[in-house]
Parts: sequence; structure tokens; C-alpha cells
Amino acid sequence: MTWRELFPGTTEAEWRDWRWQQRHALTTAADFERLFPLTDAERRGFALAAGHTRVAATPYYASLVDRDHPACPIRLQVMPSAAEAVPAPGDLDDPIGEEPHRPVRAIVHKYPDRALFLAVDRCAVYCRHCTRRRITFSDDEGGFDRAAVEEGIAWVRAHREVRDVIVSGGDPLSLSDQKLDGILAGLRAIPHVQVLRVATRAPVTNPMRVTDALAAALRRHAPLFVVTHFNHPKECTPEAREACERLVDHGVPVENQSVLLRGLNSSARILTDLNERLLTFRVRPYYLHQGDLAAGTGHLRTPLAAGVAILEAMRGRTSGLAIPHLAVDLPGGGGKVTLQPQYLAGEGEEGARGHWLRNGRGERYFYPEPPEQDCTCPYEAVYYPADAAARGGPAGGDGEGE
Ligand code: SF4
Repeated sequence: MTWRELFPGTTEAEWRDWRWQQRHALTTAADFERLFPLTDAERRGFALAAGHTRVAATPYYASLVDRDHPACPIRLQVMPSAAEAVPAPGDLDDPIGEEPHRPVRAIVHKYPDRALFLAVDRCAVYCRHCTRRRITFSDDEGGFDRAAVEEGIAWVRAHREVRDVIVSGGDPLSLSDQKLDGILAGLRAIPHVQVLRVATRAPVTNPMRVTDALAAALRRHAPLFVVTHFNHPKECTPEAREACERLVDHGVPVENQSVLLRGLNSSARILTDLNERLLTFRVRPYYLHQGDLAAGTGHLRTPLAAGVAILEAMRGRTSGLAIPHLAVDLPGGGGKVTLQPQYLAGEGEEGARGHWLRNGRGERYFYPEPPEQDCTCPYEAVYYPADAAARGGPAGGDGEGE
């Protein structure tokens, strides 16, 4: 069914207005039931979610639901499920250990040179797999008011080691242009901040949000990357393409981070198709995240080996440009590690220095060691004299003692 049939009486201008989309979000079982019949599990999911977790989908995103199939990937991302109440081993409220690293409310600082800036606790769509659901799914966080934002910007200003700031939340594109621009301008004015990133699902869930005015505002704060979050080819609509292309046309690079979700996109065919389509949108596949241990998402997590097997199957099927890094954000705050299939198949035999490697077809090839082993770059100390000085190296002084 088309959106006109699903939302009779809605004008084209309303449909294309991102604020109309946010204002008319579907939030209750009755809202969704007007579009398609709910399953018993979904009905129970709504009953369990009531008063505990937020539920919302823009009319645009809800219009992508396959009304005949409960396993529809859009449906699985927005409809609360009874399975969310079933505990899974290792469940955590703060799965990637952010809370101990919040020096001020708006900042998470886990890596020396990067900081996460929490700009908002709201989203246009609440994804059932959200890692930060402790913040996005309830009113407990209390929002991020002007004082919290100013405190966050002041914190970044005071920490000269931070060169990369990821503005996230919640979804920062659920804010007005003016508020978002104010945050980005505050951060861009800090001399040691080299790169800004904006993490948003808007191109996926409310692509009308990406207006020319927004794209131009983001471009003003370059270098700035938009990091979005497509999970399934069904999300690659003409509207989503238009949103991504508008950003790129304005000079804003777009990268994608997917989450590997059991029964939704846990297939090499689906993920290959997704990432190949994203490349045609001029969006670079970046990460494929192993599901974090967020409480309530255990039913959507895949075994670790499944992600590695998918990656290996993708290697034989598509170009490297279409293959994201498979990342595990270690539980409790250990940071990210990436996994990949093991292609090293053994050392060379006696007298043959080198390594055996295998390709995706299981064929073994020998790669010999080069004649020289020393990999130091002599010009490095010339090009980075200050580093060498700090290490007390040869370029530290003016040649004395060399
Ligand atoms: S848009 Fe992002 S922050 Fe918001 S619910 Fe979805 S995953 Fe979580």
C-alpha cells in the first residue's frame, strides 16, 4: 500500500515535512493497528513496553512495514516484542561501559583523542536494538538542556587532547536546525577539534529531515562526517537515496554503521545487497556492529561466529569497498575490537621463510618474507622532529650527539 492509502488525508507537503513526520509518529498499538494487524507477540510487547520503554516510528518508516509478515525487518526494528522481557546471559544496562566515563552529562570520554557528545535523548524512531536505550527509552535522563550542552562544549574546550567529537544521543537530527547548528558551531570554534561526526538515523527513518538548509549548515562545519545507520536493503528507498545524495552533494561525506541483528539482516546476501546499494547512494560502509549486551536485546543478538562467517562469505561475493569492519564493543567499556576470518594458514617450512595464507575458496598460497626485516622509516624523525624530541631521539636537538 502507498503512503497515501495508509495515511489518507495527508498532503504531499505534509508528508515531505520532517516536522510533520516527527509530530505524527506512531506510538501506540492502536496507531500501528490502523496500518496492519498486530501479532500476539507484538501486542504483548506493547503491554510490556507501556510505561517502561518509548515506542515511536515516523509515518514514513512505518509505511515501509510489510503488513503481511511479522518477520519484516522494518517491523522487527520498531515493534516492541515480548522477547525484550526475557533476560539473556551478560545483559547490561550500560553495555559498553559509558557511565563511568561521563565527566559531565553531555560527554562520554573513553578514548584519549575522541569524545562522544550527547546532544539529545530523543529519536524520531526508537529502534528495539538500541544500545543506548538506558538514555533513549525512558524519561530518566531528563533531556539535555542548554546548560548541559554548554557544559559539554566547555569540557571539550578544556581538553586539548580531543580532536574528534561525535555528536550523538539520541538522534541529533531530531533537534531543530538552529539548536544543532549552535552545538556544532560551539564545537567547531574549538581550535583543537579537527573532525566532527554527526551520528543519525534520519536518512533511514525520516529522510525528509535532510533539507538543503540542513545539509548546507552541516557543510559549514567541515570537516564533518555524517554517520548513519541502515540495517536492511528495504530501508534503501528513493527518499533515503535523496537524503544521502543531498548530503554528499553539499560536501558532507556519509558513512554507514549497521548492527548485525539475528533474523533481520544476519545473512551475507542481505548485507552484501545493503552495502552495494549504499555505495550507489555514495555512502561508505564503515562498521557492522556485533550486538552489544544491552538488556532487552538478547533475542536480536547473533553468535560471534555468525558475523565472521558472513564477512567471509561477503569477501568472496563483493568488492572490499562494500565490506564493513565487523566490530565488537567490548562489554563493560573495553573499547572496540574488530574481527575477521583467519586467513593466515601457517608458517613456511624449514628453509622457506614466509607464511601460508588461504583464500576464501580454501586454497593455500605462500607469501615469502622479504630479504630485509627492518621497517623503520628514516625520514620519520625528520618529518616529526617534536615527537623525536619528546623521545630524546636524534632530531631532538640540533644534531648534537649524533
Ligand atoms: S536512532 Fe539511534 S539512538 Fe535512537 S533509538 Fe535508534 S539506535 Fe538508538
